[in-house]
Amino acid sequence: MADKLKFAFLLAGGCAGCEMSLVDISEKLVDALEHLEVVFWAPTVADVKYKDLEAMPDKSIDLAFVDGMIRNSENEHMVKVLRDKAKILVAFGACATLGSIAGMANMHTKEELFKQAYQDTFSTDNPDGVYPTPEYLLDGKYDLTIPEFLPEVKVIDEVVPVEYYVGGCPPHPDFVAAAVEAVIAGNLPPASGKAVCDVCERNPRNQGTDRFLVEEVYRTSEKAPEDGVCLLQQGIICFGPFTQGDCGCSCPKVGIPCRGCGGPIPGVKDYGARAMSAIGSILGSEEAVEQLMQKYPVLAKFYYRYSLPSSLIERKKRAIKKG
Ligand code: SF4
Ligand code: SF4
Ligand code: SF4
Repeated sequence: MADKLKFAFLLAGGCAGCEMSLVDISEKLVDALEHLEVVFWAPTVADVKYKDLEAMPDKSIDLAFVDGMIRNSENEHMVKVLRDKAKILVAFGACATLGSIAGMANMHTKEELFKQAYQDTFSTDNPDGVYPTPEYLLDGKYDLTIPEFLPEVKVIDEVVPVEYYVGGCPPHPDFVAAAVEAVIAGNLPPASGKAVCDVCERNPRNQGTDRFLVEEVYRTSEKAPEDGVCLLQQGIICFGPFTQGDCGCSCPKVGIPCRGCGGPIPGVKDYGARAMSAIGSILGSEEAVEQLMQKYPVLAKFYYRYSLPSSLIERKKRAIKKG
């Protein structure tokens, strides 16, 4: 058998759900391990230290996946080290590629976030307002350090070059299985390029309808969707037209509108801007616009739910700050 591919997986600032989607490919993972040598998988699977990765020779890892976004100084350091060690780096999942849900934190200051997390939640008892401190001297002799919380969430390719992107929160296991098989065969598969609508059985084109306007807007809590009919046609705002459909249309299939975790279809540079213009263009009246704004009062969080840190405006803002 040819040499096994040396494989690494690093969790940066995410929840590790993406790693669960790799484990979810079940017996295909066992088959894959015949061809992969896992040289690093931390911190989710093994308690590996920084120095273990730092000590590896440069470009000694054939393929490395990163899930999670850059939230703190440790994430940033480890992603840079992994970049040096890996020949191919894959940003795996919505956090790594777009910033994902946690990226909405970029609409708040660090002070607001800390106050909410460490003081204002109902379950928190912190009368002295003690917040995490990157360096702390305990009892005058123990010098303790923790990673520094960065002012903003960044995506992986803002810190290091990335060869390949896999969307989804988490990526769909069927797509992950296909990707792993293709990697073993010596190829990185291209994303399908199909939108969620293209693989949706509700697509109005199946009934010969090409264009329609939305006259009434509903949240999912206000209306049970009719089977077999496009959710947008029913006034339930669905992001299927401009979202990459490698998930196989998981959400609309069960009556839930797509919220965009798969990321943009090819050619779209700014997911939220495309979402705003596409949805805006099918609202059929001023009343429908009013309804949308009432029902989704923070429109930036609605349209950029998974993609705020990767937006052009955010990248530009950070570039200006950096000088
Ligand atoms: S993309 Fe979703 S599942 Fe993956 S690490 Fe981020 S939050 Fe978790
Ligand atoms: S808008 Fe949503 S429900 Fe309608 S066809 Fe596209 S993915 Fe399906
Ligand atoms: S339908 Fe949209 S939100 Fe749901 S899994 Fe697919 S890409 Fe993500």
